[in-house]
Amino acid sequence: MIDFRSDTVTRPTTGMLAAMINAPVGDDVFGEDPTVNELEAYAASLFGLEAGLFCPSGTMTNQIAIKAHTQPGDEVICDKLSHIYQYEGGGIAFNSGCSVRLLEGNRGRVTADQVEAAINPDDIHKPVSTLVSLENTANRGGGSCYDFTNILAIKAVCTQHNMAFHLDGARLFNALVAKGETTAQYGSAFNTISICLSKGLGAPVGSVLLGPKPFIQKAKRIRKVFGGGMRQAGFLAAAGLYALQNNIARLAEDHAHAQLIAKALAEKDYTGEILPVETNIIIFEIKGRLTAPAFVAAMKEQGILMIAISPTQVRIVVHLDISQEMVAKTMEAIRKL
Ligand SMILES: *Cc1c(COP(=O)(O)O)cnc(C)c1O
Repeated sequence: MIDFRSDTVTRPTTGMLAAMINAPVGDDVFGEDPTVNELEAYAASLFGLEAGLFCPSGTMTNQIAIKAHTQPGDEVICDKLSHIYQYEGGGIAFNSGCSVRLLEGNRGRVTADQVEAAINPDDIHKPVSTLVSLENTANRGGGSCYDFTNILAIKAVCTQHNMAFHLDGARLFNALVAKGETTAQYGSAFNTISICLSKGLGAPVGSVLLGPKPFIQKAKRIRKVFGGGMRQAGFLAAAGLYALQNNIARLAEDHAHAQLIAKALAEKDYTGEILPVETNIIIFEIKGRLTAPAFVAAMKEQGILMIAISPTQVRIVVHLDISQEMVAKTMEAIRKL
């Protein structure tokens, strides 16, 4: 099977497995797992941030960040397509008791003006706007990337209004590679950043929440309450360290593969709008003689898996288990249909 359903389907490589098997471990709830400590310190230092917290999922790192930045009754500002709103089970309300102000962004990206206009005045009737959360790349925006100047403009609004600024960077490394940006830039722009190790970076499990030391101390208490305190988690952290040290630069290959597949799609009569392909995600419309589910079924017959994300839209996600040969085979299947 050629699996384009998500960049979470990757299996650990032999190099990664060797790093996992050989990892020194201890009880991380006691703070005694050397490999978890190394991963947290390494990830934080990459971004020039003080501390990190290893968690089982990106949902948990985002939800811990929201909980730690807010009080019940506060309001969180984000794009309407945000993972924190769309795909985390209503966690903002469930875990933090906050309301959400959704912005109509451009493929998942919002502007400083939109954020500023959404901040509530100091009025006892209104929820207190305390947190702005961005997503880069924006998953539901087709892997779209922010321009860093816009991020700085939003940061200035947050600073002016004394609001916290969080980044859901599940695929931040895809954005950095695509835009030639640095981790240091992002570390200096946001209060807190969540990165996923189990997406394009190819680790089996895990995300890291990054931020100032006192914030991460608070986050650690919340992780325990959420049931995310893990014991000999160094075996998993070793995979994450390996991913950060070996699998970032190669994301450019995934982006090139996505461009090739999008080009094959663009030549077909059944393809409608293809969202601009900026990184490893292709979201495109199926029209005319085919529907999105029919297209997905026809591809499945050829051993190629994709997801219909709506009756008219299909999503392809390229990742490190997709070889050049698989891309060629997929382009051939697209052309023949
Ligand atoms: C995958 C993803 C997450 C985290 O998801 P988990 O499956 O909980 O690790 C967060 N944000 C975005 C944009 C994602 O794509």
